[in-house]
Amino acid sequence: MYSKFICPICKSNFNINNKTLTCENNHCYDISKYGYVNLMRSQKSSKKRHGDDKLMLKSRHDLKRSGGENFTVLDVGCGEGYYTANIKQNIPNCDVYGIDISKDALIYAAKRDKNIYLAVASCSEIPIESGSCDVVLNIFSPTNTDEYSRVLRSDGILIKAIPLENHLFGLKNAIYDKPYKNKIDSRELENFIVSDFKEIKYTLNFTSNEDIISLFKMTPYYYKTSRTDQAKLENLANLETEIEFGIIVYQKG
Ligand SMILES: [Zn+2]
Repeated sequence: MYSKFICPICKSNFNINNKTLTCENNHCYDISKYGYVNLMRSQKSSKKRHGDDKLMLKSRHDLKRSGGENFTVLDVGCGEGYYTANIKQNIPNCDVYGIDISKDALIYAAKRDKNIYLAVASCSEIPIESGSCDVVLNIFSPTNTDEYSRVLRSDGILIKAIPLENHLFGLKNAIYDKPYKNKIDSRELENFIVSDFKEIKYTLNFTSNEDIISLFKMTPYYYKTSRTDQAKLENLANLETEIEFGIIVYQKG
């Protein structure tokens, strides 16, 4: 558990004792009462602890390693953990890790499933052991191919979900005078080879204003929309909108 996280300061492995992650150089990070650990590099509050002898920690770590390993999934930018928890619940014997820069989102994620390992961290410096992941998930979040390539095993895969042209167009049409279609980024990624691609397209019908507002708040548009445009949704009782996204599977190149 939590054993694939690495120390953001010295990059060494952790031992877990009583809800504290301690690295080989005795940097310590506590698992919060909410169920995540803060591994942001900028966080200087990590304390050094001298109680455990370094060599003892190292041997405990080596011992754990020999116990065999599970299939490991890392959800980068896991947000409120919708997919993270879903994977854990569908494949119980896999180790599921999630990172996100938002503490608030991770509090929700931890509530969804107590058996996923969550850390506050950025995708530009992923605090995960090199070559330790079988699958990296990257769903509607920023991509860092160097870091994904580093944390994946040589036969590991990256699964990326991207919005397609008409994703949420109905919603945008209700808000904006001139809604734009989404620009689709190239599927090509440095360090990776596309091995599969699937498009998922369907229409969603909302029949309550509450649901429409909830949908809106889940999108990045919520943060970018003027008050005047936001107000257009206030009394809307019905909305039909396209849901369109692509799922791309990559192998390490
Ligand atoms: Zn350390």
